[in-house]
Amino acid sequence: MMAYDLTLRAILQRSTKLFSKKEIITRDYSGTFRYTYSEFYKRAQRLANVLKNFSIAKGDRVATLAWNHHRHLELYFAVPVSGAVLHTLNLRLAPEQLVYIINHAEDKIIFVDKDLVPLLESIQDQLPTLEYIVVMSDTKEIPSNTLINPFSYETLLAEASENFEFPDLSEWDPAAMCYTTATTGKPKGVVYTHRALVLHSYAASLPDSLNLQESDRVMPFVPMFHANAWGLPFACTWLGSTQVFPGARPQAEDICQLIQDHKVTLAAGVPTIWMATYPLWESGKYDPSSLREIVNGGSAAPISMIKNYLEKLGVSILHAYGMTETTPVVLVSRLKSSLIDISTEEKLKLSAKQGLLVPGLEMRVIGEDGNEVPWNGQTMGELLVRGPWIAKEYYKDPIRTKEAFYQGWLRTGDIVTVDSEGYVSVADRSKDLIKSGGEWISSLDLENTIMGHPSVLEAAVIAIPHPKWVERPLACVVLKQDYVDKINEQDILDYLKGKAPKIWVPDRVEFIDAIPRTSVGKFFKAALRSRFAKATNT
Ligand code: ADP
Repeated sequence: MMAYDLTLRAILQRSTKLFSKKEIITRDYSGTFRYTYSEFYKRAQRLANVLKNFSIAKGDRVATLAWNHHRHLELYFAVPVSGAVLHTLNLRLAPEQLVYIINHAEDKIIFVDKDLVPLLESIQDQLPTLEYIVVMSDTKEIPSNTLINPFSYETLLAEASENFEFPDLSEWDPAAMCYTTATTGKPKGVVYTHRALVLHSYAASLPDSLNLQESDRVMPFVPMFHANAWGLPFACTWLGSTQVFPGARPQAEDICQLIQDHKVTLAAGVPTIWMATYPLWESGKYDPSSLREIVNGGSAAPISMIKNYLEKLGVSILHAYGMTETTPVVLVSRLKSSLIDISTEEKLKLSAKQGLLVPGLEMRVIGEDGNEVPWNGQTMGELLVRGPWIAKEYYKDPIRTKEAFYQGWLRTGDIVTVDSEGYVSVADRSKDLIKSGGEWISSLDLENTIMGHPSVLEAAVIAIPHPKWVERPLACVVLKQDYVDKINEQDILDYLKGKAPKIWVPDRVEFIDAIPRTSVGKFFKAALRSRFAKATNT
């Protein structure tokens, strides 16, 4: 066979040749913006010329501090396809973390959204490698600012030539990089090769994976700075799907409106957003009927949420699992045809598991003794994965590379069980796992069960120190508005009787107003632990 390099150039070129009339749509600053793949390609060529004019060379890091929109998509392709490395910055990180990441990656140029300019202004004098700043807006004008010599994206593009010969690259060349959000310690950088992104696009698109199609109208709500928006922009461009981007600061109402207006068939995001949109759809204010599927990832989808979506809205939620280090898709929970006859309740339970390994990867689940655990749905162990879109190291970080990568495998740090059919269920991140009297308690399972109580909006379970049992679970519960002050600790504990093993039932329930979130919308359990750290005496 041919020694053919798998690079993003082929993805870009296929979309312009075959799908020149298909659309890319953005909820832009001043209304809806839409253009075709053909126009997208021309602007990507102009952008490549802009990078060349700035003397961006092969391997240079080009950063983005941006929301999800078509300009970000232009950067997703023009940067790596011209040989540079796209570095997506998490705009919700604390300024000092951004400074660390930008300096660690040695970013040379940053493309920043106009509403994020104040964030960049606050750190720009701490970024020695930064040479250029380009402000992205829907007009050539940029808001007044104190940036050092900023350029306007639209002006640069308007002045650049539309002809650019994208070079031949090796599939092993770096294409993009992303840092984990790191709720503890410094963020860790992962570099994606062209090959990894192309192979991941194949695997993510497969019918038994995310089942992406040309006819789909896809909206990634997951940020483009978070694990490549789960690879959707690359895969959807390849397939020629219509792409809908939610733009700056989208709220739950915006998401519902966009799905309705643009007849989105597949939307993707963390559970927080689907919990926030559910009441809007349930009230009948918006129409979700165009949705073929919602992809939930990043955190576990509560079974009660999956059930509500399916039974009340007729929308199925597809549970997927991955990490920044895994490009990210690793597991997807689709029902095997051999299980078609199981009960509706069993089907629901399976869809709340993180699912089956996608083709192309290998996994092992290792117990405390270092041996593989049996696939019995009970025994917990750490998930290890390897494959062509799994990172082999952290960027310039030998110490943490040594901790996480072991004999050619990535240690995910996630504690899981595997059932006899091969469905993986994440019990916890190892750092969140509760070890009580020598037994592991899954906080995710407990949260799932508590969230089944009709009064509960959200629940997070954490470990707190205990003099006898070492650790005991504590449940932090947010009640739905109508139930505040009407439900007490005993109601929750009674509800758990018979639904969870006795030893799992928390010693305490704390009712709180909201569960703190990380920068990518996950439960921030470290904050809860420090708030409720004092030992329980029961
Ligand atoms: P960060 O590590 O900064 O939170 P990542 O997106 O890389 O950012 O997080 C990956 C982790 O998110 C996984 O190791 C796992 O703990 C969790 N995760 C991802 N998807 C799921 C899911 N579907 N269910 C439960 N946990 C998930």
